Amino acid sequence: MNTSLKTGWDLTLLYASPEDPQIEKDLKAFERACASFARKYSIEKKFLSKEKALADALIEYEKLYAMPEGGRPAVYFYFKTELDAADNKSEARLNQISERLSKASNLIIFFDLELGKIPVKQQQIFLKSKLLASQRYFLKRLFDTAKYNLTEPEEKILNLVYQTGQNLWVQGQDKLLNQQTIEYKGKTLPIPAAFNMISSLGVKERREVHNLVMEKLKSISFFAESELTAIYTDKKIRDELRGFKQPYSATILSYQNDEKNIITFADTVTKHFSISHRFYALKAKLAKLDRLEYADRAAKVGSFNKEFTFEHSTEILMKSFDKLDPEFSSILGTYLERGQIDVFSKKGKTGGAYCAGNTGLPTFVLLNHANNLDSVKTYAHEMGHAIHTEFSKTQPILYENYTISVAEVASTLFENFIFQEIFDSLTEEQKIIALHDRLNDFVATIFRQIACFNYERELHATLRAEGALSKEKMAELHNKHMKAYLGPLFDMHEDDGYFFVYWTHLRRFFYVYSYAYGALISSALYRRYREDKTYIEKIKQFLRAGGSMTPEQIFKSIGIDTSSPDFFEEGLQMLLEDIKKLEKLIRNK
Ligand SMILES: [Zn+2]
Repeated sequence: MNTSLKTGWDLTLLYASPEDPQIEKDLKAFERACASFARKYSIEKKFLSKEKALADALIEYEKLYAMPEGGRPAVYFYFKTELDAADNKSEARLNQISERLSKASNLIIFFDLELGKIPVKQQQIFLKSKLLASQRYFLKRLFDTAKYNLTEPEEKILNLVYQTGQNLWVQGQDKLLNQQTIEYKGKTLPIPAAFNMISSLGVKERREVHNLVMEKLKSISFFAESELTAIYTDKKIRDELRGFKQPYSATILSYQNDEKNIITFADTVTKHFSISHRFYALKAKLAKLDRLEYADRAAKVGSFNKEFTFEHSTEILMKSFDKLDPEFSSILGTYLERGQIDVFSKKGKTGGAYCAGNTGLPTFVLLNHANNLDSVKTYAHEMGHAIHTEFSKTQPILYENYTISVAEVASTLFENFIFQEIFDSLTEEQKIIALHDRLNDFVATIFRQIACFNYERELHATLRAEGALSKEKMAELHNKHMKAYLGPLFDMHEDDGYFFVYWTHLRRFFYVYSYAYGALISSALYRRYREDKTYIEKIKQFLRAGGSMTPEQIFKSIGIDTSSPDFFEEGLQMLLEDIKKLEKLIRNK
């Protein structure tokens, strides 16, 4: 690899040092700009009734959003704490700066709120205005969301009691969980550590550890019973006050998706749970087991020693990105030259991987590269987000940010590309393990998340119909929905149901669908690309669309109709093909 490539973040792309006087200059500039915007438009209200006045106001509003000064100071210190958790100085600066920045942006909140209160008739005029054509989608989203706003004093009260109705309950549950451990083979293991090791243990051990964890979760489930009942009741009260018809309506609206389409999508996946059952039949065969237990759902069926150093991984990405489109490989090249990727684990550095893009600032990717196949997939995944971010910068400021449900399409698509590239270079034995692991991920992302979505639907519906939920009922419903996607080979035990105590998804109402949605759309896109290489142009069109339209409209613009179950069946078809491929590999073994 070229020695000039950097494997750590170069934060001088933001500021020369924590003492850089530019930091204070930036903060002042942003504070001044917000204050002057607020001064002007809190008095001058023509923008609420006149097209030209609104167009002018929105241009200034966009300029405010485009100011790198509004993000750079906080981003800089945030990244410093991400690289070193012990950097207390940066943490303190971050807190101070965040407070100043949020005070400044609070000055301009009134603008959105006032726009939301425009009478419907006037909204219609604005939405049809030629002068406001480029801001139409922004306005439409704002008006659509504002329909559910309450009066200002009511909003204030709801904001304040969110802490007691939701946050403090979830925090209490977290604290309780954090104190729990299990004793196994003379070792004391915290619950997350126990869960992490389960998939790589032998069958007997993993079932033992799993059962110990479930027993522990059951023993503390009295609190989760109260917690979930409280936050689901709080959610119900909010939904009723705001006028949301279904428990999932608010989430789907915030991800800019169409409710009917998403329910069609979830129902289509549910109808095809048999694909997941077919995968588990293969897993059972590979693991030489007649029956499976909940502990086995993510179990490995082997591992292989193939090293993927960062240099080698970069070569693989470069080569296959280049084959797709030179623009992709050139983005990766630039990131490596400029120090926008932090590659290796370090003491104090945050775990996991992510890509962080901000308006007007360079995008930074964080990895914890561990020289294995998973690391390469993660590298490709995060670069998928990064490429999407770069392409979206061709949009006007208001549309640069894309929603979560399209974000995961881009990232998993690049993961697909890379996986295929690597897969072809493996031995037959390695292929079986790699494909099994890959399918295992897909099943977890698509079928398990939709099973969770269905579980959440029934939890909220039961609570709304019956007024309360017992822990036994929560556990029973958990098992019902998990069994549905896991299939006939699984024996679910009563205690398995207490996984709900641990499952954080249940506390982030319905967001799970976005992962399944993204993964399935990207499978379909990948399939189309495989059949017709010129399809990459459509993929680039999708990447450039940012947040300029609803996800449904973005996909429609590249010839995909997400309102029809057929399209999602196409994505599922690809999974089925991979399962058949794995069946064949096992037969030929
Ligand atoms: Zn992602």
